[in-house]
Amino acid sequence: MQSDHAAVANVAATTRDGRLVYLSATARPAQPGLEEALTSLLYRLAERSYPELLGDRARLDAMRLLREWGFQVEDVEITVSYRCPQCAASILLSPEVVVYVCPYCGWAGDPFGRPVSILAWPPAPQSAVERLARRLGGSLVSAQLLYVPLWVVEARATAYYTAVITYTEARRTPGGQVRYVTRRKRVSGTVAVQSTEAVVARLNAELFGARRLEEWAERAWRARPPRQLTAEEAKPIAPSMLAPELGESAAVEVVKDRLENAVADRAREDARLRSPTGVAVDVSLERLSPRVEVLRRALVFTPYWLFTYRTPSGLFSGAAIGPDAATIQAEAPMSNVERAAWLVGAWAASLVLGALAQAFVEGGGSPLAPIAFALLGISASLLLAGNAFKPAKVV
Ligand SMILES: [Zn+2]
Repeated sequence: MQSDHAAVANVAATTRDGRLVYLSATARPAQPGLEEALTSLLYRLAERSYPELLGDRARLDAMRLLREWGFQVEDVEITVSYRCPQCAASILLSPEVVVYVCPYCGWAGDPFGRPVSILAWPPAPQSAVERLARRLGGSLVSAQLLYVPLWVVEARATAYYTAVITYTEARRTPGGQVRYVTRRKRVSGTVAVQSTEAVVARLNAELFGARRLEEWAERAWRARPPRQLTAEEAKPIAPSMLAPELGESAAVEVVKDRLENAVADRAREDARLRSPTGVAVDVSLERLSPRVEVLRRALVFTPYWLFTYRTPSGLFSGAAIGPDAATIQAEAPMSNVERAAWLVGAWAASLVLGALAQAFVEGGGSPLAPIAFALLGISASLLLAGNAFKPAKVV
């Protein structure tokens, strides 16, 4: 059949909003002059911004234009991938990604080609997860090592405040009795809070135990600081690194909110202590003008083992973080079929997608296919595993 033959074109381009991309187009059936037409079509599309290239819009516009140019096409496919500025590899990522690590050369940076330096904690070996499973009374069935990105932000908040405090004072009446009277007083002061905050750099809440991961990173930041990764070190682990989807400025906003809340609490404590009796029964903040100063920020990849283990009473699951594989969450027995099905689904998803990636490598397919499949596999596993954990009793 003639429509089995397709015309294909690829161009390297920079989108209007500055992203380094490859655009490719496939149209059927092949016909004289179509590949040249597709190439000029792609250069036209590249004048758009990245979000305008996603979805059906670009494809429909391409169909219309090709027909205007006199081509009878049944179907057009447009794909957009990122282009590593160092080795020019084509990398397929979800549109939300703000930083990625190139699995071919280890370059780390944003889709605009600006390098970003990344830190990481070393992972625990799989033997540590096996020991953990034994300690939990079972044996390890499966384990998947992921690196979860977190923004770690050191910040200081200072605030001038005014508050009205309410307190009770004991008064002796002329008759010698003690009476309590309620008094109010306006107080003011300046307070400061300094802390290290970690924010998981993923948009979807698919990650199991995200808040615990943040707390772990906040403690570990000082106790055992992470190391900067060289490109050579980043390259082999790139396929298991979840790409950050939350940008630096968005993470700083989250941290500012947290510190503003913390400094407000500190202001209330401070106001309470200004009561003449030493104890205020009520504090009402009138004015608070917090100023948050960011002292340091870094993108840190935290090793995260997602595992399942089996005991005589059934299949369990857990997650362990950091160089020591400290458990952050381990699950009670999966008593219902549904949850077990979710987890089996998770592992099946990662196995199937992994197998597909392998098939592409062996079949000599496009070099970007394995990565695309690998990343989808990770997401699917996390999503499904997240669902399995949700209704679980956590031990
Ligand atoms: Zn590269």
